[in-house]
Amino acid sequence: MPAIAALILTELITEANKSNSSLYIALMDAKKAFDILWHLGLLREMYNLGLRGDNWLFFKNWYEEVTSKIKWNGNISRPIQEQQGTFEKNQLGAYIGCTYCGIPTVADDVTFISKSPIELQTMLDVQAYYANKQRYLLSEQKSTILVLNDKENRSWSLNNKELSTSESAVHLGIERHSTSKSGSKEERRISGKTYCDPSACHEIHQLAEIADQYNLPSPHDLIDNPPIKETWNKLVNQTISSHFILTLQQESENKSTLKYLNLSDTVPGKPHNIWTSCGNEPFAITMAHLKAKIAVGTIVLQSSKAKHSKPEVSPICQLCHIETEDMIHFLIKCTVLKTTRSPFLQELKTFVRTCLRGENDETLFHELFYNNEYLARLIIDCSFFHFLKNTEKTRIETISRGLCYKLYQKRATLLADNS
Ligand SMILES: [Zn+2]
Repeated sequence: MPAIAALILTELITEANKSNSSLYIALMDAKKAFDILWHLGLLREMYNLGLRGDNWLFFKNWYEEVTSKIKWNGNISRPIQEQQGTFEKNQLGAYIGCTYCGIPTVADDVTFISKSPIELQTMLDVQAYYANKQRYLLSEQKSTILVLNDKENRSWSLNNKELSTSESAVHLGIERHSTSKSGSKEERRISGKTYCDPSACHEIHQLAEIADQYNLPSPHDLIDNPPIKETWNKLVNQTISSHFILTLQQESENKSTLKYLNLSDTVPGKPHNIWTSCGNEPFAITMAHLKAKIAVGTIVLQSSKAKHSKPEVSPICQLCHIETEDMIHFLIKCTVLKTTRSPFLQELKTFVRTCLRGENDETLFHELFYNNEYLARLIIDCSFFHFLKNTEKTRIETISRGLCYKLYQKRATLLADNS
């Protein structure tokens, strides 16, 4: 538990300062400890620590024949055997209910504390010997010694290189000072009576960065004046969802495949009309899946096939052979699909007539059904049109969901027959 380790250090610093006795603290930094972990060395250490039989074999099998492929410039390399490193996405651990009980993540943060400078040097020598044996690297530049209550000029070395001594250093994400008596805010929070979540303390610096990214108040300020949990949760949810919706909207502006998807009315936490209108019936959900793919432009039509393949692939519709098969051609224009399309379009027209209220009915109706861009929007995502009530949007989506599914199915059958 990082908080407990941090507490021990805090207590020792407080005691040394109170009794004005010398204390030497070596904060060690392992270079990329998790990336360069040596598998065979790890297995040997596990055995020496008493892990035997099936338990040991479990780890051996787990680390054996791990391969990775490298992707570079669109090419993927042949598999490479991995003999070092822990798997970040495949960490060992288990779920109890919905609580993840994982492996500790601060295993590379080692601190030596001693009242004697010679004893500290011995500790450093032992660690250097062990590091060399286990093939991990200690950083002479990033490891540092904190000296408390000793004015003498002392030095320590690691692998025959002198280590720096400094006034302050970060251990377990907490800044330590050799001079200050009270320590940092986080330190006080740990040693005081305030409850502190261990992972929150460990990652407080990362938290500050995240808070900054979303324009939230800094955790450094919040420690002294914590908000009520409900208020805070609400603020975080609001800020983060609006941040992502804004990013989504900005990014979608330059993407032509998303032009039939209405993102400007996105409400945080509320699913899109495509999903809210389909209910729980499995077949309707299958159809909604296809509809969503059409809305985000990921279904493969002949035009997209031509765009992403060799020049000999033609963008021309393989059903009618008249023109490029893009979204408008497929949904509205292709004559081969006309008999499939007509009954749905007729139903849509009849229904939209009942939705129109007001004087410009005819103009609007005409635009919706005779301007292909508007019609495509009505079919793909009718939430573009604010004159529609929510119940009407649901009904239109139900009709267009069926239309898209039938068109796609018919197209697939015809293409299969052709080949
Ligand atoms: Zn066609």
